[in-house]
Amino acid sequence: MRGLTFEPKPGGLRILCLGAHSDDIEIGCGGTILRLAEQFPDCQIDWVVFSAEGARGEEAQRGARIFAGSRLQAALIETFRDGFLPYIGGEVKAVFEDLKSHLSPDLIFTHYGKDAHQDHRLISELTWNTFRDHLILEYEIPKYDGDLGQPSVFVPLPLAISQAKVAKLMDVFGSQRSKRWFQAEMFAGLMRLRGMECNAPEGMAEAFYSRKLVL
Ligand SMILES: [Zn+2]
Repeated sequence: MRGLTFEPKPGGLRILCLGAHSDDIEIGCGGTILRLAEQFPDCQIDWVVFSAEGARGEEAQRGARIFAGSRLQAALIETFRDGFLPYIGGEVKAVFEDLKSHLSPDLIFTHYGKDAHQDHRLISELTWNTFRDHLILEYEIPKYDGDLGQPSVFVPLPLAISQAKVAKLMDVFGSQRSKRWFQAEMFAGLMRLRGMECNAPEGMAEAFYSRKLVL
């Protein structure tokens, strides 16, 4: 499928990655981040994880450094209680307001608005509610609940980048390896499926939802 791409921008493309938990950003758009960092060496990436305590907080920091590399501007790792974000929404919203006061990204990655996880949905809702004049792409997180849908934006990935994404996921998130779903085959399988749907040259892609897009 023929596509358009981002233009290099004076001063570098500003990217904001938002995730409820440690590993969400990396699973949802890790390959795209690796590709953008390679394609636009002067891009600047800000990274925010809202619920990552203890070992998961350390993994979130490491994930940001490993995926964004030298393009990482700042990683903000919050420690709100996992599973409870909608019930402490005012405190989470305050973090968004603070982000808005000093960031104006060209591109924002956030959770899919119809994600089955309540924390993911709140982060998606607050992204739209806070950033009113920005390009927002919503990433998908495969899960037991089976909430995958029909995404509208595809980012084809070189095979090497898709493999690097999986290797980094398995390396960084040691606390998740015991979970039955946290498997290299699962991550590769979803990228292969999305790659098939967009005719990706090397077979692999990540997919996103766009609610609105200006060309
Ligand atoms: Zn999550």
